[in-house]
Amino acid sequence: MKQLETELAERRAAGLYRRRRTLDSAQGVETVIDGQPVISFCGNDYLGLAAHPKLRAAATHAIEQYGVGSGASHLVNGHHRLHDDCERRLAAFTGRERALLFGSGYAANLSIASALLDRHDQVFEDRLNHASLIDGARLGRARVTRYRHNDLQQLQDQLERAAEARRRIIVTDGVFSMDGDVADLAVLSELAEQYAAWLQVDDAHGFGVLGERGAGLLEATGLDQRQVPILMATLGKALGSAGAFVAGSEALIETLVQQARPYVYSTASPPALAAATLAALDLLESEAWRRQKLHDNIASLRARASELGLSLMPSASAIQPLVIGDNQKAVQISDDLFERGYHVAAIRPPTVPAGSARLRITLSADHSDDQVRGLLDTLAGLLEST
Ligand SMILES: *Cc1c(COP(=O)(O)O)cnc(C)c1O
Repeated sequence: MKQLETELAERRAAGLYRRRRTLDSAQGVETVIDGQPVISFCGNDYLGLAAHPKLRAAATHAIEQYGVGSGASHLVNGHHRLHDDCERRLAAFTGRERALLFGSGYAANLSIASALLDRHDQVFEDRLNHASLIDGARLGRARVTRYRHNDLQQLQDQLERAAEARRRIIVTDGVFSMDGDVADLAVLSELAEQYAAWLQVDDAHGFGVLGERGAGLLEATGLDQRQVPILMATLGKALGSAGAFVAGSEALIETLVQQARPYVYSTASPPALAAATLAALDLLESEAWRRQKLHDNIASLRARASELGLSLMPSASAIQPLVIGDNQKAVQISDDLFERGYHVAAIRPPTVPAGSARLRITLSADHSDDQVRGLLDTLAGLLEST
C-alpha cells in the first residue's frame, strides 16, 4: 500500500490527479454540485432528457409494476418483456435486423470484441478511439494496428500491407468523444469493402443528436447494415437513460448472445431502464425541437467564441473543446469557472494526448442564449488574466 501512496503522490504532482464532485440535484443544465448551484457545460445529457417527466414516469411506472432488480442474467431469467420491446424498437429505429441491450457502453464494446475476435484477427483503430474500443481489442487478443486520427490514407496503407487474418475489423468512434469531430464513414465503409473488413462504429455521441430522426451519424450519412455491419450506441448520453445497444444482422446479434462473456456473465439491467429508453425514443419523435435547439446552441456558441477570439476545436457536434495545453492550467481555469458558477470539465492525459489538456465544453438543448454567452464572456475574461 505504501507503493500505491507514492504512485498517487506522483500523479498529484504531475497535475493528473482526478477528483470527483458530487451532484446534489438532478442531472441537467441547472445543477447543484457539492452544495453549490452551477450551470453545467460538461454533461452528455445533450437533449435534456435525463430528468424529463416522461422518462421519470415511465421508469416509475415500470418499477411499480415489476420492481427494481432484474434478478438474473438475460440467459437465465432476467430478460424482461420490456428489454425485448426496447430491442425491437431500437432495431427498427436504426434500420437493422436486430438489436441487443447492454448494461453500459463499455460492456457493449468489450462484448463485441470478446465474441468476434481471437488472436487470428486484426483490428484497425483510430488513435483517438474511446478507451472501451482499445480495451476490447486487447481483451479479444487480436493484433491491433492504430492509425493517426482520421488519417484514412494511413489506414489504407496499413490495410494494403496487412498480413492474412481470419477477420479484419475497422473500428471507429462516430463522433470522437474528446474532440467532437466525426469519422468519414463513407470512405471508411468503402475501404472496408475493398479490403474485406467489417466496419464497427461507436455512435455514443451521435445517437439521438444527429440525423433527420435522431438515429445518429449512420442516419445522417445514409449508411445501411451492409455498409456498417456493427453499430453500437449508448443510451446514457442523449437518450437520458442508461446502458447501450449493438445493432446489426441476426447472425451478429445471435453470436453476441451466445458468446460475449460480458453479456453472458452479467445481470441484466433493471427493466425500468428499458421503459425509460422507450420513453426517450418516443420523445426523439414528439419533441424534435430539442435537436434543433441543440444545433442552434452549437451555432451560437461557435459564433460568439469566434467574436471573442477563442479558438474552439473544429466540431459541429455538442462537444466543443477548447485546448489549453498545460494540465495544471486547464484544471485552474476549470476551477475558476466553477467558482463563478460554470461547470466545465478539464480533460487531461491519458484521456487525451499529452500537451493537449482541454476544457471539454458540452451543450444541451436546455441551455439558454444567456447561459452560453455568460460562459464564453467569463472564459474570455479568465484567459486574458492568466
Ligand atoms: C461514453 C462512451 C462509451 C461508454 O459508454 P457507457 O455507457 O458510459 O459505459 C463508449 N464509447 C464512447 C465513444 C463513449 O463516449
